Amino acid sequence: MKVTEHIAQSEGKTLFSFEILPPLKGQHVKSIFDNIDPLMEYKPPFIDVTYHREEYTFKELGNGLLKKQVVKKRPGTVGICAAIQNKYQVDAIPHILCGGFTKEDTENFLIDMDFLGIDNVVALRGDAVKSETYFRAEPEGHRYASELVSQIQDLNNGKYLDEELLNSSKTDFCIGVAGYPEKHMEAPSLDSDIHFLKKKIKAGAAYIITQMFFDNQKYFDFVEKCRKEGITVPIIPGLKPIATKKQLNLIPHRFKVDLPDDLIMEVVRCKDNKAVRQVGIEWCIQQSKELVSAGVPILHYYSMGRSSNIDAIAKEIF
Ligand code: FAD
Repeated sequence: MKVTEHIAQSEGKTLFSFEILPPLKGQHVKSIFDNIDPLMEYKPPFIDVTYHREEYTFKELGNGLLKKQVVKKRPGTVGICAAIQNKYQVDAIPHILCGGFTKEDTENFLIDMDFLGIDNVVALRGDAVKSETYFRAEPEGHRYASELVSQIQDLNNGKYLDEELLNSSKTDFCIGVAGYPEKHMEAPSLDSDIHFLKKKIKAGAAYIITQMFFDNQKYFDFVEKCRKEGITVPIIPGLKPIATKKQLNLIPHRFKVDLPDDLIMEVVRCKDNKAVRQVGIEWCIQQSKELVSAGVPILHYYSMGRSSNIDAIAKEIF
C-alpha cells in the first residue's frame, strides 16, 4: 500500500516507521531480522531500506603501485526489501539514488521493484563518493533528485526510455523525497532549498521525509515555510536518538545539523556511552511526544541497524 494511503487510513493517529541499513557485506540477513523483530510490536506500516552506492578503495600491489577497487560495502537493498515484505507482510520502501545510476539502470531497478510488488520508493540524489568533494552524476544519469522523480513519474505514466516499446505497462509508485529543516549542506539558503524541494513535489513526489533534527522548532518552522510556498504533501519528521559521545561531533559534521546546547551539556556530563544512550532515548521521547501532540502523520526513526533504543522510545509513544 502507498504511504499516502497508510496516512489516509490512520484517521489522524500518528504512525510508527523506521529505516534500516542493509547488512555489511558478509553478514547474514538474520542480523537485520533480529533488529526488526522487536519493533514489529508497534505495527509499522512500512520499513525504509537505505541504498549505499559504491566506494573506491586502493589496494597496494607491493611494487609501489596502487590498484583502484570499486566496492559496495552494503549491497542487498532489493533483496532485503523482498525479504521484509515476505517475512513481515509490511511495505518495504527502497531508497533509490541518482549517484552511480544511469537512467537505464534506474529504469531496470524500478522494473524489479514493480515486479516485487513494491508500492513506494524514496528518490534521492545521494552524496558524492567518499573520495570526492562534489557529487558527480553518471554521464547518462540524473544530477538532482527532481530529475529522478520525473523519470519515476514517467514510468508511472507508462513512458519508458525506449519510447517505441509497445504495450508498455504503467507502474504506480508512490514517491517520497528528502527535506532538510536545517537546509541541505550544499544549499546556499533554506529558501533556495525549499524552492528545489517544491520542484521534486511538482515532478510527482507525494510525501517528504525530513533529515534528522534535535530541536522540534526547526521542524515546525520548516513545515510552516513549506506550506507558505504551497507544498501541501505530508512532511514526515525523521528522528534519531543520540547513542554515543562521539556522535556529538560526528552528527553535525556528517549531516550538517545543529544539536541544542541542553542536549550537548547532558551528553558531556555522561560518564559512559550507556549513560549517553539513556540521555538520547529520553531526549527523543520528549521530541516524539511533542510531535505527536502537534499531529504529525508518522514518526520515522533512523535505526542505523540497531533497534534497542528505538524500541525503548516506541514503548513510551505507541
Ligand atoms: P536533491 O534534492 O537533488 O538536492 C541536492 C542539493 O541540490 C540541494 O542543496 C538542493 O537545494 C540542490 N538542488 C536541487 N535541485 C537543484 C537544481 N535544479 N539546481 C540547483 N540546485 C538544486 N543517501 C544515500 O546515499 N542513501 C540513502 O538511502 C539515503 N537516504 C536518505 C533518506 C533521507 C530521509 C534523507 C534526508 C537523506 C538520505 N540520504 C541518503 C542522503 C542524501 O542522498 C543526501 O542528503 C544528498 O546529498 C542529497 O539528496 P537529495 O535527494 O536531497 O538531493
